[in-house]
Amino acid sequence: MPMNAKTIAVHLPDGAIREVPAGTTPLEIANSISPRLAAASVAARLIPVGAAVKQSSAADEHASEAAMYSAEDAAGPRLVDLATPLTADTRLELVTEKDPDAIKVLRHSAAHVLATAVLELFPETKLGHGPASDSGFFYDFHRDKPFVPEELAQIEAKMAEVIARDEPFKRESAPREKALEEFARDGDFMKTHFVTKFTAPGDQVSFYRNGKFVDFCRGPHVPSTGRVKAVKVTNLAGAYWLGDEKNPQLQRIYGTAFFSQKAMDEHFARLEEAAKRDHRLLGKQLDLFSIQELAGAGLIFWHPKGGIVRKVMEDWMREECLRRGYSLVFTPHVMRRELWKISGHEGFYAGNMYTPMELDDAEYRLKPMNCPGHILIYKNSPRSYRDLPVRLAELGNVYRYERSGTMHGLLRVRGFTQDDAHIFCTPGQIEDEVVACIDFAEAVLKTFGFHEFKVELSTWDPNDRAHYAGSDENWDLAVGSLQRALDRKGIAYKTIPGEAAFYGPKIDIKLVDVLGRLWQLSTVQFDFNLPARFELEYVGEDGERHQPVMVHRALFGSVERFFGVLIEHYAGAFPLWLAPVQIGLVPISEKHHAYAQKVEAELKAAGLRVETDVRNEKMNGKIRDFANQKTPYILVFGDKEQEANAVSVRTRGKGDQGSMPLAEFIAKCKALVEGKSTEL
Ligand SMILES: [Zn+2]
Ligand SMILES: [Zn+2]
Repeated sequence: MPMNAKTIAVHLPDGAIREVPAGTTPLEIANSISPRLAAASVAARLIPVGAAVKQSSAADEHASEAAMYSAEDAAGPRLVDLATPLTADTRLELVTEKDPDAIKVLRHSAAHVLATAVLELFPETKLGHGPASDSGFFYDFHRDKPFVPEELAQIEAKMAEVIARDEPFKRESAPREKALEEFARDGDFMKTHFVTKFTAPGDQVSFYRNGKFVDFCRGPHVPSTGRVKAVKVTNLAGAYWLGDEKNPQLQRIYGTAFFSQKAMDEHFARLEEAAKRDHRLLGKQLDLFSIQELAGAGLIFWHPKGGIVRKVMEDWMREECLRRGYSLVFTPHVMRRELWKISGHEGFYAGNMYTPMELDDAEYRLKPMNCPGHILIYKNSPRSYRDLPVRLAELGNVYRYERSGTMHGLLRVRGFTQDDAHIFCTPGQIEDEVVACIDFAEAVLKTFGFHEFKVELSTWDPNDRAHYAGSDENWDLAVGSLQRALDRKGIAYKTIPGEAAFYGPKIDIKLVDVLGRLWQLSTVQFDFNLPARFELEYVGEDGERHQPVMVHRALFGSVERFFGVLIEHYAGAFPLWLAPVQIGLVPISEKHHAYAQKVEAELKAAGLRVETDVRNEKMNGKIRDFANQKTPYILVFGDKEQEANAVSVRTRGKGDQGSMPLAEFIAKCKALVEGKSTEL
């Protein structure tokens, strides 16, 4: 080794430190550990020695232009190519195919493969950009003639060739001015835009080359195109350049990629299963709800069958609220604009609110949240520490503006019902209150048949103090009590600094459905802002006036959204206690109609939801119709059953269970309903 060669220290995850010459690559280090590890590695993660390991935030999961091109945050971890020469002391993690970041590197690499294929087939095409997305990748292209389906098939075939050529991805760099000159010369208006926007004069800009294809890009990439083991072009959509319709129209080709064919097959099988469970489809098929064009987008009509499920959900929720020491309240849907000015919604939330309506006395606005209403009730009486905690709950209808085109069935709407509650308490009570909220949230999930959930604690960014309301002591108290509450419950959680709202930290509970999808529903949110804005008070033990602590919490989140998730979770086959029709009655012929009436009356008297099919149809047709409606029990009866005061029972998912005395069947149903069993 020459005398002047620099040596750097590379810290490995197992604590080992390797002294290596500067310029050594992660791939070389991987190979020195084991060639097998080197082969399994996709990229490398460099973390400055001494830096705290940052939790990845939800925002990182979204592909953003800035993330694709801008300078790295030198203080944080960054992903690099396996071939990147290491120039300074660093912690090093090899990113293998199992690492959650690996698939994004792969998919972005697949986007380069797509662009390579497109330019080989259609050299006149101009390139936009091609980031990885949540479930795949896309690339924006500009070409006078839109792509047609046959061309997409051609492109996919060409991509297979590019992958088979196993071209290494090589990073190169050039002075920014030279790059801009070349892009301008070639009419690459989109590349010119990205370079101008994301680099500064005097910068070196980086490019990635595979074969003859070169793209402006920060990387990282997998070592070679051959690492893309499975790829598929999935979709084509038009979009205006920079979202402006005066600009040229682009064509966005979507695709997805995986490390193995098996992983890709599983992905498409999951999509197919999810499509079968789509709540919009099942909502129609089971006649649960509709959205009426005449009434407007994002507004839900609950049909009788959906309405009964909602009633059962709401009854449960209201009963639980009362049992857990909440008071039930109702507040108006429209309130004076003045109120929204005091609450601050007119300022920070105006974009989500409907425009004011002028009545004879004042201007009014539809409520986007229930909090100010509950605050007025709190404020209406003098409160002493003995009255606290005050827990006000409401199934409150709120209206929020969503851009047209962004609505999605029950999941994203313009009008919905929050199972909203506001807790006003003393600082000393807050920890117990948060524990009680988490208990309640767990009860919701368990009762409705979800067995797994993930918890996130969003806290402030102390380096960005100016953006947050409330004192330092407020924040310490709030974050501390949320943490202690989670610890007391023994719940594992992820802390996300900087994700809190400006008015306080929060706990988000995301349930995991039967397909493993995460749904954000329950939230427990602190608020330092509203008690101050409304000058809320209570008289303390010391006889002095104090400001109460306030918590917003919603557990279903939105009744509409929760219902949508339930439909997909159960694929429309609701457990008996929730099912709109619990029991379908099938008399074999007309002469059994009288017995049907008797059975129906007895079931109804037991509080069960029944429907009798008295149509002049074949028995099997009636059974099939109830089965298509996913009815939990179908009872069939003819002479034999009538004589024995019995019914022949068909159980959903289990088929014919034979004959059973009617009284025994009723007792069985009642036990399942009362126990809120999710077994049937
Ligand atoms: Zn790239
Ligand atoms: Zn609220």
